[in-house]
Amino acid sequence: MAGRPLSYLASLPTDVVRGIGAAYSKKLSSVGIDSVADLLLHAPRRYLDRSQEFDLAAVPLGEEVTVTGIVTKVNRIRLRGKGNRMMVDGYITDGTTVLQARWFNPYLKIEEGWEVLLAGKAERFQGKLMMKSPDVERVGRETWLTSQIVPIHPSAGGVKSVDMRKSIKNALDRARPIHDSLPEDILDRLDLVDRDFALANIHFPEEIADVTPARKRLIFDELFRLELALALRKQRVMEESKGVHHETGGELVKRFIAALPYDLTGAQNTAIAEIQADLATGHAMHRLLQGEVGSGKTVVAAASLLTAVQGGFQGAVMAPTEVLAEQHYLGFRDLFETAGMSPPEQDGSAMEGQDSLFGGQEQSNGPVVRMALVTGNSVEANFVTAGTAKRPDVMEWIADGSVDLVVGTHSLIQESMSFSRLGVAVVDEQHRFGVYQRVTLREKADGYDPDMLIMTATPIPRTLAMTLYGDLEVSTLDEMPPGRIPVQTVNLPKSRIGDAFDLIRREVAAGRQAFVVAPLVDESDKLEVTSATEEHERFSAELSDLRVGLIHGQLRPGDKDAVMHAFRDNELDVMVATTVIEVGIDIPNATVMVILDADRFGLSQLHQLRGRVGRGKYHSTCLLVADPTTTDGEERIAAMVATTDGFSLAEEDLRIRGQGTVFGARQAGVKDLKLADILRDYDMLIEARREAFALVAADPDLKDHPAAAEEVRALLGADVDWLFRS
Ligand code: ADP
Ligand code: MG
Repeated sequence: MAGRPLSYLASLPTDVVRGIGAAYSKKLSSVGIDSVADLLLHAPRRYLDRSQEFDLAAVPLGEEVTVTGIVTKVNRIRLRGKGNRMMVDGYITDGTTVLQARWFNPYLKIEEGWEVLLAGKAERFQGKLMMKSPDVERVGRETWLTSQIVPIHPSAGGVKSVDMRKSIKNALDRARPIHDSLPEDILDRLDLVDRDFALANIHFPEEIADVTPARKRLIFDELFRLELALALRKQRVMEESKGVHHETGGELVKRFIAALPYDLTGAQNTAIAEIQADLATGHAMHRLLQGEVGSGKTVVAAASLLTAVQGGFQGAVMAPTEVLAEQHYLGFRDLFETAGMSPPEQDGSAMEGQDSLFGGQEQSNGPVVRMALVTGNSVEANFVTAGTAKRPDVMEWIADGSVDLVVGTHSLIQESMSFSRLGVAVVDEQHRFGVYQRVTLREKADGYDPDMLIMTATPIPRTLAMTLYGDLEVSTLDEMPPGRIPVQTVNLPKSRIGDAFDLIRREVAAGRQAFVVAPLVDESDKLEVTSATEEHERFSAELSDLRVGLIHGQLRPGDKDAVMHAFRDNELDVMVATTVIEVGIDIPNATVMVILDADRFGLSQLHQLRGRVGRGKYHSTCLLVADPTTTDGEERIAAMVATTDGFSLAEEDLRIRGQGTVFGARQAGVKDLKLADILRDYDMLIEARREAFALVAADPDLKDHPAAAEEVRALLGADVDWLFRS
């Protein structure tokens, strides 16, 4: 093993590097550069290439170029009303032509008389040659720099680019040669340069042409480490899980499906079959169910839960919000009613203190499904008259197995919650929960691992999903129930709100209904309620001949229920709502969705809201009422108008928001991606995944590849501790 492994360099603090003292080291730490390895992986943002220098007179406009010259004048102008903002204008000449460079950086170091290199795009403005915020480098200060190419490292934590470069130079000199943990056959197959070359040339290339292969190799490394972690995790879970063999051929599921008022789509049938196959094995299932809004995930989830119930196990559904949990509860209750599986109701007060109401096991096999709702604020059960169930009783019935199916929020993973024999757990809206919550729910089963189905309405390409959700298998509902007509989406300027009133009147006259979503106010429930209440007043006044209802998260569950039922029964024409209706609401007769200040909503939220209409056989319209004021807002509105395809919207969302913010720290390893971009480098991601999984398949504990294993642990750190937990 020639050279120093990256995992070893990851164990060295930065202050072992010449020129880095305690204070400097602390600054580096503040931006996540904790080790020599971190330092070496801090790649330049760009390069000044002196071999590509242009005379100022001949400089091409609009292209990335490097120029040199002497600074003849510097003006620093404090900008009024903008805090600490300062405009710095520097005038550079090569003797014949003058270029004006402008920065908005009060700390920019540049002085008259310096000879400098500038890199950026030149333009002509009112006859003057200008550059906006070019990278700047004083020439001739670093004598160690023999190359024609000057790397510009991102300054970070108060460490300037120049100092960063010096430190990295010193670190690199000490660290090289650097060992390559990647098996040679992979290097060959993918035509990758070795790691020592890559690290040397990403920082200090002899020729600019060496940067691309160096960068490619380092991007691959990031993706490969991530995929290796995922492959190892999956292997671990396989080895360690003690799953349940569920009874997949039972009556309950068959009866449920037969009682549905429609035929399942091909995609639903496939997903149910995939899930049933998982449930039948002794391995615990970890499956992601993703699908377009309205593609019918609820039925698939119900079929999975009933598989547990028919074998004498319990099912659980965890939703991220109270409203969502209630909606699931109501949705399931209706589905079971249709299938004739609802138990008779009793009065809760009369049942107080009764344990093991139904004698446990033999009753759980059907013919009825006993279901409970548990959230922070409320409990309900479908065998208890609404509003009369007592929390301690319901908790007890769940613990003793009298309840077959539990729907709830985070309450399900609280300490006080215990199940009798949890068999299948469904986690809805995965992107709002972290891995931790998933694991905690799984641990509610004692001595074995229940099967997990994770549902998300933020569809992303299957392979990408496999990576972001790592250890999960993926089922995709990529087919809509027949007869759906795509929703027409229009951006309506606020001044034309009258068009919205007209449309609502027309549709209501034709027997249809409308949703109006109030502006999003921060993340604050209270303000959101106020804004919905105001909009309710406005719409009631404008549409005084129509029946206008109001729903928001602070209504009591019973009242919410009553409003929802009134709307469902077409006793209301218009429903003014907060985002409580975002997910799950299903009213096929509704054909208008008006979203006020739509530019403030996130893309997936807008898509979800739009998904509340277009669910029946009628033509539907979504009006995005907005005068967008930000580029992001504009882009989101444009994307919504352009497509109804959730897959491409999800990609667009990823592009607008960036991978880090979309998946955040929630997905192990994604924050390790510094150079890689999962969308741009998608093809390489696929390669990395294939290679990593093949490696683990051939060498499950990486016994023959210890350096690769060490590297995953050292560089992904706490994110992958679970991998090495015994
Ligand atoms: P989502 O995937 O958004 O959760 P739902 O499960 O709420 O979608 O289903 C959306 C609507 O489609 C519901 O009205 C549901 O009853 C209906 N639906 C589901 N599957 C089918 C199907 N195979 N054929 C017709 N309608 C269906
Ligand atoms: Mg749903």
